[in-house]
Amino acid sequence: MALQVFNTLTKTKEPFTPLEPGKVRLYVCGVTVYDYCHIGHARSAIVFDVIYRYLMHAGYETTYVRNFTDIDDKIIRRANEESSDYRAVAEKYILAFREDMEALDVLPPTVEPLATENITQMIEIIGILMEKGIAYQPFPGSDVYFAVERFSDYGKLSGRMLDDMLAGARVEVDASKLNPLDFVLWKASKPGEPAWESPWGPGRPGWHIECSAMGNRYLGRTFDIHGGGRDLVFPHHENEKAQSEAAFEVPFVRYWLHNGFVNINNEKMSKSLGNFFTIKDVLDRVHPEALRLFVLSKHYRSPVDFTDETIADAERGLEKLYGTLAAVMERVPEASTDFPQKALQSQDKELYDAVETLPQAFHEAMDNDFNTAQAIGYIFGLQRHLQRFLDRFGRKKLKGAAAGLAQKGTALLKQYSQVLGLLTRDPRLFLDEQRKLKLKSTGLSEQEIEQSIELRKKAREEKNFGEADRIRDELEKKGVQLEDSPEGTRWRVII
Ligand SMILES: [Zn+2]
Repeated sequence: MALQVFNTLTKTKEPFTPLEPGKVRLYVCGVTVYDYCHIGHARSAIVFDVIYRYLMHAGYETTYVRNFTDIDDKIIRRANEESSDYRAVAEKYILAFREDMEALDVLPPTVEPLATENITQMIEIIGILMEKGIAYQPFPGSDVYFAVERFSDYGKLSGRMLDDMLAGARVEVDASKLNPLDFVLWKASKPGEPAWESPWGPGRPGWHIECSAMGNRYLGRTFDIHGGGRDLVFPHHENEKAQSEAAFEVPFVRYWLHNGFVNINNEKMSKSLGNFFTIKDVLDRVHPEALRLFVLSKHYRSPVDFTDETIADAERGLEKLYGTLAAVMERVPEASTDFPQKALQSQDKELYDAVETLPQAFHEAMDNDFNTAQAIGYIFGLQRHLQRFLDRFGRKKLKGAAAGLAQKGTALLKQYSQVLGLLTRDPRLFLDEQRKLKLKSTGLSEQEIEQSIELRKKAREEKNFGEADRIRDELEKKGVQLEDSPEGTRWRVII
């Protein structure tokens, strides 16, 4: 089966055929850089990162453009609040965004243009729309608007009729607009505001025109995929489409892809509800790869619910995957040679089958509108068989065909997880990072735990078992569990 994607424009799942065979042009709306990014932004970044990775995995040469909105009312307001310059505000939050993306292992797109680097292109498109009489300036020096009534396809992407929009919309009444839904293409600047010269007077671009200009400049008049969060369908994407198609008279985008929302404990995330988390807040207590697994455990179009339990589920899942990888490193020390199929099969039929069927199952899931939830299900299926197989050997090292099968399973587990940007770390490093993160919540340091273990050891040597148990129970109350083994006492965080 070839790749199928759900297109917001047609509201159906369609076979994916790029404009040019073997090549994909992908545009995703970036962030407005006036504040730290929240986990809704993280979801969108991760979802489209995986789509980008999978397109490349499927052999498409992919050009991926994700912009920065570095001029806008919110940025200007923030600059005024901080008595700084809009450029300084933008720079600060671009840097913060890049830090977040790096932590989340989100690949850099091919091009990351700034809106302010593309003002000439925006002015050009607005000029075309003015010439065609689709855009208008109510009076000299005022804002420039797009006349929605002069573009017959307006509302097609979001599935709204102009009259319904008017009835339901809370649009500002502005006497200078022909229709209250007309939107700004060029915003006249007030004294002291950043401004660029234009045929309509000094000003700055409206938000929507940016993406039309950057999409057109870097990907052409028509490109393959335009993505973003579901909240962008209307008005942002509807307006992008209207401007571009009215100006160039060709379809703007072939496939529109939108990811669902992130809810917090089943409620909409909002600053006013006080359940608003920045990426930085979350990464302070959750491993970035666990956040990635959490996001990808649901289909990208469904909502995801961010709760202590769903995050703990993702953490446990990742610990399992890495735990199995670590166990293989320990028990299968040497690279094994190739073994005939029969020899491998005779070791463990179920594991062998899971290994053999993973590639096809994984591709079928991902080809079905990037169903990462299902793809991850298959990865865990293989992990379970692999772990069960290892468990059969107890603490013994695996040799011969058994080692060969375990290695084959491990290689596949990593290979396909990495298409999703998962299992990219050394397992021991991950388990150590994860333990340190969880340790934070216990309020104990590694040193304190080691000291307690030492004290307990002494108490046991002195046959003071009451004291030894007291130390163990006290640690457990704080969330640290001790495990005695012939090699000594190990500990793990259980909260
Ligand atoms: Zn956009």
